[in-house]
Amino acid sequence: MSSAESNSTVEKFARHVNPAFVKLLGLFGYGRVFVRAEGTRLWDEDGREYLDFLSGFGAINLGHSHPQLNLRLQEFLTAKVPNLIHVGPSPAMAELAERLAALAGDPLEVAMFSSSGSEAVEAGLKLARAVTRRAGIVYCTGGFHGTSLGTLSVMGGDRMRAPFEPLLSDCHAVPFGDLAALERALSHKAGAFVVEPILGEGGVLLPPSGYLREAQRLCNKSSTLLILDEVQTGIGRTGAMFAFQAEGLVPDVLVLGKALGGGLAPISATVTSSRLHQKAYGTIDRFDLHGSTFSGNGFACAAALGTLQIVESERLAENARARGEDLLSGLRNALAGHPLVREIRGRGLLVGIELGPREQGNLLQK
Ligand code: PLP
Repeated sequence: MSSAESNSTVEKFARHVNPAFVKLLGLFGYGRVFVRAEGTRLWDEDGREYLDFLSGFGAINLGHSHPQLNLRLQEFLTAKVPNLIHVGPSPAMAELAERLAALAGDPLEVAMFSSSGSEAVEAGLKLARAVTRRAGIVYCTGGFHGTSLGTLSVMGGDRMRAPFEPLLSDCHAVPFGDLAALERALSHKAGAFVVEPILGEGGVLLPPSGYLREAQRLCNKSSTLLILDEVQTGIGRTGAMFAFQAEGLVPDVLVLGKALGGGLAPISATVTSSRLHQKAYGTIDRFDLHGSTFSGNGFACAAALGTLQIVESERLAENARARGEDLLSGLRNALAGHPLVREIRGRGLLVGIELGPREQGNLLQK
């Protein structure tokens, strides 16, 4: 891409997509136009190479442009199979749902597909309402579940939700890790407790040991569904295929997105037991209460099946665990004693550096 073309990209983007974003990039001096991506690397229009730490907000677990996934999707496109089948069972959806059930384990057996993480969390919230006939939802302060109206209702940050209020009523925040607060909130008979196994957008916050298991016990006691949002932690990112597998529990609803489509196709899944699914949607007058035109389309399912196969064959979860330990210890060694680094934490390759003066006044005194 020539620099004239790149300028025109910036101008078109500013004019027709998001002016404030371009302004922000300019202000910080990061106004690059990236034109090539492979593995962990990005290249800008001047051929400069960058290490991609953002990884598509955690959606590129395979790396960019994985050759095997590219090939599989090329094959899908040349095979001329129907991409959207609304008048019969889709082979691609059936195969992907079966694969997810095998990976998630009993009793998570039924998958509902969507295109984004937000939609998949919404599907979980709707399922909980349909199953329990209760309106209430408990969520964690600092949690992030998407930007649709339903998911904004269960998000911790005021800046993102305030312009759109009023949102869903009967949603109650509890601090992440605080079991006493959760127990109090659940005593009002909520339909669902929605939580991430590790708060991603909230600052890579790990749960206290045993928190999620005990949360599940409390949910069971009050017949509240536990919805585990693994949109960010799933698909090998934290050192297991799903983060819940390291926590000794199985949620009522498992939500997946981001990396499920290998960074190439938008696809997300809300996986639950056949008992709960049957209760919500198991009759002829209810089978179509949830869904959308592109949910479970063939291309996206092929991307997800290809992704899962690569994660397994290349042992990417195990790799994330080992590389994550290297990354954590490397960062801790390199940044030890740095006055602006408060903490370095994470699990697998979901790692964060908390910045800020370690002690009030520290910087000013130096
Ligand atoms: N849930 C979690 C934990 C997320 O991190 C995100 C996005 O960052 C979402 C849900 C929303 O996913 P999407 O942006 O695909 O709607």
